[in-house]
Amino acid sequence: MLDRLQDTPPDALLALIAQFAADEREQKIDLGVGVYRTDDGDTPVFEAVKAAEQRLLDEQDSKSYLGPEGDRGFVHALMPIIFGADASMGGRIDGLQTPGGTGAVRLAIALAERAGVTRVHVGTPSWPNHIPIIEDVGLKAVTFSHASEDGSADLESLLDVIRQGKAGDAVLIHACCHNPTGIDYTPEQWEALADALADSPVLPIIDSAYQGLGEGMEEDAGGLRSVLAKVPYALIAYSCDKNFGLYRDRVGAFYIKVDEPAQMSAAMANAAALARANWSMPPDHGGAAVRIILRDEELREQWLAELDGMRKRLRWVRSHLAGADKKVDSVPLAHLEEQNGLFAMLPLDKAQIVRLREDHAVYMAGSGRINIAGLTKGNIDTFIAALADVAG
Ligand code: PMP
Repeated sequence: MLDRLQDTPPDALLALIAQFAADEREQKIDLGVGVYRTDDGDTPVFEAVKAAEQRLLDEQDSKSYLGPEGDRGFVHALMPIIFGADASMGGRIDGLQTPGGTGAVRLAIALAERAGVTRVHVGTPSWPNHIPIIEDVGLKAVTFSHASEDGSADLESLLDVIRQGKAGDAVLIHACCHNPTGIDYTPEQWEALADALADSPVLPIIDSAYQGLGEGMEEDAGGLRSVLAKVPYALIAYSCDKNFGLYRDRVGAFYIKVDEPAQMSAAMANAAALARANWSMPPDHGGAAVRIILRDEELREQWLAELDGMRKRLRWVRSHLAGADKKVDSVPLAHLEEQNGLFAMLPLDKAQIVRLREDHAVYMAGSGRINIAGLTKGNIDTFIAALADVAG
């Protein structure tokens, strides 16, 4: 029976990690893996997380099951951060904890399917796991173009999808720090998007995996909030894995916005049933640490300050790359300064990406996506020179 399984390609980025590790050149640069790095090239545990984990160790008195919703304190403490002061919109938003943002995306697609969605529109390129999740749930993924040639968002393509969409359609939108392009909608574009969604049967599914790493905590949530203010229904997938540095602890949340508070209990019951069928309940540790941080003023300030430092560093890398625009003829770098988050796409062909790796020990995804956090004061000029060599 199992001999019927066809081979399936391994994750290309994981293969790149192994190749990078085996490279013995001292000046090697890793722009592949999607984690934040400090100027020393490290991905440390946040100080605020360390302190919260210590408290958890001292105070946690049971590890008994919590149920498919996970830690409700965590889910609710996060809501004002995402949705603002009127976080539950009068009982119209609620949610549950998930294993990372991936679990939240999975739950969003599965709940959409239960509610009658058959097609999910996705702007491409997108996070490489979006389409596999949609198809694994049994829905059809339909693509439209996310980015224009000039490095801005292709809003018209998205508006067309929304205007022409029918009942049974959903659209997946990145809240901020678009992965892999770094190209986000401007506040004006978000307003246009919110107006179009308000007049359309298309269900918005908003994926927020990098709040705080773009322009600021509030700014990065602005688009999502303008949509939620206007649409009757929406699903929101949220990850704490980047903005709390909790990656392997798998910390995420899934939220539902309904039109009337009376609709919430059925929506949540279905989400909980799906969670139970998928993973029963989420891992607790990271979510509990986030709850401790968010409920403690001092730890919360410390976390925000650490996140601020990360954001400032990412902005520095972006502006330094933009400043080198004239040094690399065929790869425009100036617009990187306006884009957000960990990622950017460089228009390099396969041969150039191979040359960067073989001649210069610069590792990046085959798509041309770079994790700009892999660049530091110590290696950024080496990278720019390498880029000029292969694409100058
Ligand atoms: N959505 C997007 C757009 C992402 O880039 C990622 C992860 N890199 C996720 C969701 C999933 O995040 P997590 O690691 O928390 O599962």
